[in-house]
Amino acid sequence: RELKRTDFSGKLRTVCLGSRKSLCINMDVQKLGSANRINERCLELQKNKKSSKIKVEGDNKKGHRTKTSCGCPMLRNRSLQKQFRSEVSDHGALDIEDLAQIGRKVGTCPYYGARDMVRSADLVVLPYQSLLLKSARESLGLNLKNSVVIIDEAHNLADSLTSMYNSKVTSSQFFPIWRHISIDFRMFWELEIDVTSRP
Ligand code: SF4
Repeated sequence: RELKRTDFSGKLRTVCLGSRKSLCINMDVQKLGSANRINERCLELQKNKKSSKIKVEGDNKKGHRTKTSCGCPMLRNRSLQKQFRSEVSDHGALDIEDLAQIGRKVGTCPYYGARDMVRSADLVVLPYQSLLLKSARESLGLNLKNSVVIIDEAHNLADSLTSMYNSKVTSSQFFPIWRHISIDFRMFWELEIDVTSRP
């Protein structure tokens, strides 16, 4: 929003990336509620791409070729994705709500539409996770070499890094490990006593 007030608004190719939870416009998926369930369902739909054989004609020969369509109806029409990118480019700097609105208007997925614009953008606004995880950057085609990285609200960075790289261990996982460590420690302790007590 701040960028809109500057002279750069119409001059920079800008794209703003958000989560599926913020940008998904498939109501069947959106109604699942939690970010995890929305992500999982969307990825399931991507896997469920249907392959259908369609007839093609050429050189007086009839044949078949395989046409692949995405499981999510919001991604089936590639020309709508093109229209989305074109509308976003025409509007200059847009935020997540604007992207979702254009996606709804055009009838195509703004989440994937925005991601497709990363490679050609001058300015990419994105969440910490997409910036800090190498795998996320690679999946976006985001190359930081020779780029200027500005971290907003940097005091949140340490917490974000901690939450990205921590993992939970349940008590049923922890206690068997603890038991093994205790047994090994006792064996080592007894062995050391045995060695040091020899004349
Ligand atoms: S492709 Fe887009 S609209 Fe479809 S489920 Fe995924 S995020 Fe939602």
